[in-house]
Amino acid sequence: MLEPEVESRPWPEQLAVDGASFREQLAYLLERSAFYRQKLAGHDTTVGLAEIAQLPLTEKDELRATRTSENPFGTQLCAEPHELLRIYSTSGTTGEPSYIPLTAGDLDNWVTGSARSYAASGISAGQRIVSTYNAGPFVAGAALASFDRIGLCHIPVGTGNTDRLVHAIERLRPEAAVLTPSYAAYLAENHDLRDSSVERVLVAGELGGGEPAFRDRLEEGWGAKVTEAMGIGDIGISLWGECEEQDGMHLGARGFVHAELIEPETGAALELEDGATGELVLTHLRHRAAPLLRFRTRDHVQVRASSCPCGRTGPRVRCIGRTDDMLIVRGVNVFPAAVREVVSAFAPDVSGQILVRPQKAGVKQEPPLPVSVELAAGTVAAPALAHAIGDRLREVLLVRTTVELVPWGSLQRSEYKSMLVERPS
Ligand SMILES: [Zn+2]
Repeated sequence: MLEPEVESRPWPEQLAVDGASFREQLAYLLERSAFYRQKLAGHDTTVGLAEIAQLPLTEKDELRATRTSENPFGTQLCAEPHELLRIYSTSGTTGEPSYIPLTAGDLDNWVTGSARSYAASGISAGQRIVSTYNAGPFVAGAALASFDRIGLCHIPVGTGNTDRLVHAIERLRPEAAVLTPSYAAYLAENHDLRDSSVERVLVAGELGGGEPAFRDRLEEGWGAKVTEAMGIGDIGISLWGECEEQDGMHLGARGFVHAELIEPETGAALELEDGATGELVLTHLRHRAAPLLRFRTRDHVQVRASSCPCGRTGPRVRCIGRTDDMLIVRGVNVFPAAVREVVSAFAPDVSGQILVRPQKAGVKQEPPLPVSVELAAGTVAAPALAHAIGDRLREVLLVRTTVELVPWGSLQRSEYKSMLVERPS
């Protein structure tokens, strides 16, 4: 454990510390943030952390709406220009990029939380780690600083240069590699890494590392233990990180960020109790540049609240999908990642690659939902297999599908993020 006195602190004590931070953060927002002064007008701003659900949620679109050419950060900006130390941008999938400003303290807290999350995997000072992120303008660059904080010898090789990566693994013999699960799968399919020096594969940047069948495939291909980490650009990098027990991610950013769960359709608060699922909502506790209150992450998670043998306290989460990918098939919520998880259990007959192909645009769909399932190399399509997969999907996810088996290699591989849904244009 990187910081045992923090990471193993009894959870009620953590909540007491966070409660004090929350009051200060709320006062800071009311003093400095025009956005939150307006948003919180008419709300009781004397509430404590236990009553946080009485305050309104923050949506990404609301923040975006306050940006102007004069104020590209929007009205939630709290810091003076001279206080900013770093400005990241998002990839801007819906148009212009969003800017994420940080003060020196914000950046330091990000790196602290991220270092705890990555160290939870078991990597330790003195070991070598090869990284494959071309961080450029994106927040992932700050995550790379957490490797220095842990005391690792960091070997950056960037994305899109598999030869350089494989060469670095062969010659420099790192104990760990950090990459997206898609890229980890791509490498394992195309290179024999089972006897490499890599003992730990740390995956982040998209879903997959926590899906049992997908994880098994990665672990077999790499001959290494696979653990995952997860962050969200607007709130922080690698906020969550999985330990060697591989049973959900711990909140490495504890003390800096407060986590809640809501029911996505209504926004109603849910208890963070064992087995609960819902959308993750995050609140900054000690942020300065542009802190966010009850920010909807669009990540759907499942909670583990049992105590973890590693000694870290607090609830753990596993991400099961993104709101934006969710389909509703005759009233049933279906996440493409959950389809992949069910299908992957049919290995070694299937490759683990799938593509959900809804027939119409939008969230609501009529059954059957078309799903393409890629066969493993050398496997011949058999109607019985398609039926068995369809039956299993219906049993586990309560959704009727039409399963089309497609030859190995026919679904697109990505070195960064896999596409799991193809919507009609
Ligand atoms: Zn643990």
